[in-house]
Amino acid sequence: MNFIQENDPAVWNAISAEIERQQDGLEMIASENYTSPAIQQAVGSVLTNKYAEGYPGRRYYGGCEHVDVVEDLARDRAKELFGAEFANVQPHSGSQANAAVYLALLEPGDTLLGLDLAHGGHLTHGMKLNMSGLLYNCVSYGVRKDDCRIDFDQVAKQAREHKPKLIIAGASAYPREIPHAKFREIADEVGAKLMVDMAHYAGLVAAKLHDDPVEVADVVTTTTHKTLRGPRSGLILAKQEYAKVLNSRVFPGVQGGPLMHVVAGKAICFGEALKPEYRTYIQQVKDNAVALAETLAAGGLNLVSGGTENHLMLVDVTPLGIGGKTAETALGACGITVNMNMIPFDERKPMDPSGIRVGTPALTTRGMGVEEMRTIGGWMLESLKNAEDAAAHARIREQVREFCTGFPVPAAELNAELD
Ligand code: PLP
Repeated sequence: MNFIQENDPAVWNAISAEIERQQDGLEMIASENYTSPAIQQAVGSVLTNKYAEGYPGRRYYGGCEHVDVVEDLARDRAKELFGAEFANVQPHSGSQANAAVYLALLEPGDTLLGLDLAHGGHLTHGMKLNMSGLLYNCVSYGVRKDDCRIDFDQVAKQAREHKPKLIIAGASAYPREIPHAKFREIADEVGAKLMVDMAHYAGLVAAKLHDDPVEVADVVTTTTHKTLRGPRSGLILAKQEYAKVLNSRVFPGVQGGPLMHVVAGKAICFGEALKPEYRTYIQQVKDNAVALAETLAAGGLNLVSGGTENHLMLVDVTPLGIGGKTAETALGACGITVNMNMIPFDERKPMDPSGIRVGTPALTTRGMGVEEMRTIGGWMLESLKNAEDAAAHARIREQVREFCTGFPVPAAELNAELD
């Protein structure tokens, strides 16, 4: 029985069109992934009915005995997965997790130092219209012009000059591995705390295939829905000394009741990531990114920093005489979804930047490997080199649709049952 279809066909029509879009197209947005049917079931479960303000054993509502089990499982698994002393699994999103950390470690007006948005940073690391930029004095560091790697001389210079109370490492569009110990050294020199926002590469850290920030940082935040492959949500890890203040800044600081259905999804996600198969998956994500980057570079595109060491690449499309907006549209017409993105030192505007950001986590979840990346890279080049050619796009679109039938999305069976 499909209850949504029965009771609300308007909503069902949109959901079913989205199922089709996800199945028939190539999802290459670096921050997206496909959750397992088990996670989807948890997120659609009766736990959505339950209020559970507080923490396991100390709730402000009765009837929490079962959701307490779920939250304890999620916390214990998160700590085991990342080797952390403390975990708070309640943040509704990555932004909420970051907001709670700022409330815990800073007073309004204090200085924080984060990666410039235009160089791959995130909104919550100091953008002036975000709560970070509104409440705090935000200064930034960037990447070097010659190799587009984080400019640690500039990080140190900014830190010495502005004496931030908090330094933030982590990025949304940075294709290289981040050496966290270098940030720790600088933070120690100026007496700052270090927060690492590993939202993008948390899955690589969980699989021990990326420099690990948990040991060196005071606090680590992440989303759970990118490489980690869980439900859309957030997580905070920290040294035990921060447990009390972080708990109180998540609730009642920035949130009311936790989303217990999503916490259950996170518990399942961490359980999945603890299995050996997950490490194999992440290794494939990285191998796929290298194969795709090589294909695109061989076809004449410019890769920011010259390549990738993680799950994503930033591609400068201007050598083909087009901008990022045209590239996003051309690829979209072929059923290939990416997002346009500023590249460091971009001379174009955010609404039509020079680049696109491309990632391999979602396609790898569908079982695609290096060979498939080469095929897809070929389609991308053909699409971009014929950016105004609707007939070429229609032809590639059909090839993509046919190709996708061989790689069902994990939701397919579950949704077929719903149908
Ligand atoms: N931090 C980083 C580095 C991110 O890339 C993102 C999302 O893209 C976030 C935080 C925010 O996550 P959310 O969209 O869940 O608020």
